[in-house]
Amino acid sequence: MTTETASRVPTESHDELVALESALAELESRPPSQFRSLWEPAIELRQRATELGAEEIAQRAALLQAGVLLRKGRTGEGGQLAHQVRAWAEQHDERYILARAHRELSVFYRHVGDYSDGLTHAVQSVAFLTDDVPPHLRARHLMTLAVALDDTGAHEDGKRRSQEALALSATAGDHEMMMSVLNNMAYTAVEVGDEPEARMLVGQMREIEARTGCRFTANELDTMAQVELMGGRYAAVEQLISPVLADLVAATEGDAVAECQLTLAQARRLAGRHDDAQAALDATGRLCAERGLAAIGARVRQEQAALFAGTGRFAEAYEEHRAFHAAATALQSVQRDARARALQAVFEADEARRDSEHFREMAHRDALTGLYNRRYVNERVPALLLEAAARRMPLSMAIIDLDHFKLINDTLSHSTGDMVLQHVAELLEESAPGPAVAARMGGEEFLLVLPGIDAEEAAICCEGLRLRIRAHGWEPITGALQVTTSIGVTTTAEGRDTFSALLSIADRNLYTAKRGGRDRVVAD
Ligand code: GH3
Ligand code: MG
Ligand code: MG
Repeated sequence: MTTETASRVPTESHDELVALESALAELESRPPSQFRSLWEPAIELRQRATELGAEEIAQRAALLQAGVLLRKGRTGEGGQLAHQVRAWAEQHDERYILARAHRELSVFYRHVGDYSDGLTHAVQSVAFLTDDVPPHLRARHLMTLAVALDDTGAHEDGKRRSQEALALSATAGDHEMMMSVLNNMAYTAVEVGDEPEARMLVGQMREIEARTGCRFTANELDTMAQVELMGGRYAAVEQLISPVLADLVAATEGDAVAECQLTLAQARRLAGRHDDAQAALDATGRLCAERGLAAIGARVRQEQAALFAGTGRFAEAYEEHRAFHAAATALQSVQRDARARALQAVFEADEARRDSEHFREMAHRDALTGLYNRRYVNERVPALLLEAAARRMPLSMAIIDLDHFKLINDTLSHSTGDMVLQHVAELLEESAPGPAVAARMGGEEFLLVLPGIDAEEAAICCEGLRLRIRAHGWEPITGALQVTTSIGVTTTAEGRDTFSALLSIADRNLYTAKRGGRDRVVAD
């Protein structure tokens, strides 16, 4: 009875984990247009996974949340969450999560206007993808990379990635994704002023719509309208955008409707219909205010200035232009704040990781020998010197360098060389009792710091170490080859010298020892 109960519990939680995992995979695969539907289930999933100690699932759910926040315009929060997940994934070496976190970070940096960091993260988001990632998910990462490349002006590279994303989406039968890749390519073509290319891409969008019956989103209609605007076909712009204004079209991005209205205002101004242009612009301004769309709001002022100028109201145009500048500047400072907050969050997450006992210990040790490393020495020795100065006590320091170590590597092997280093490290450790510090500074060079030890004692200590290394039972490891060391040692009477000054004196003494025939100690 007892055993049955005991064994049922883990099975049940195992089953629940499997269920959570598959629910998560389903959420991750939902089309981007349905991003709003992810919020509630992602929160529940994350909570339950945390209760069950399923950290990986919890982190993936957190990333879904970050994605929703970013797409809803809660940029700072989204970026912060994505940064935290990235730190976790790095620490746990979870490549897939790392790839996804980098993708969200790319979106974040793009939103705050930092295109260069946006590109860095987009590159990582593709680099960390493993081969088993399904094509429709890989397509999303390639698309993010394509957008980031376009943002930084690398349009040819962007196009290549877009085409790869397009091919993958076609393989996966993912029409929504194909449409959004084409839309992005067409938008880029508009931006670089390539009307024939833009029209060709719009043709492909129409072809998909006709074949699959999928409907254009407000975003896609806006791109198509901008292509018409390029060609001066203002009536066509009106026709494309009117269903959006009549609320007949799905708007997947928070700012798509406002973008459409702004495009319409531009078309009307260029067509010379100034009153209608003003009406469209007023509507855009209201929408921006309602939804907090600061970036488009600034562009409304820019368009207003153009409209005033178009009707000969130059004083007002000038005022509007100033207002546009002020709005754009304010926007930049908002973006800077968001970025600063997110960066602060990363910094804190990294700090927390560095503070963990394990990490600190790892960071201070040399991987091969387990001795302290140079980083530790750099942090620790200045403190030991201060202490020596305060107590008016001597401190000695020795550099220990293996003789002709290259010969051991070359005539035996690198791994034999490694074993020799490990044995020397043990002997060194034995010569460093109490407050002494034994460290590997790199290669076949070691450091011994001896607080409270004067010159005479230090010379004795180093001579003892040299003899012990020489007399060690090396035969099983190096055969006939001798292992010897040269040591340069120096002492500061009351800890008043700097670490680097002491190091260079010890190094000079070491050089003298080498030149004098090796296998010896040279003191001041
Ligand atoms: P000297 O007596 O003048 O000090 O000669 P040396 O051969 O010891 O010095 P040199 O600086 O010419 O060569 C040091 C060698 O140490 C070269 C490098 O390949 C080797 N080495 C550095 N790090 C490692 C390591 O981690 N493992 C092994 N096996 N060899 C290393
Ligand atoms: Mg050497
Ligand atoms: Mg050396």
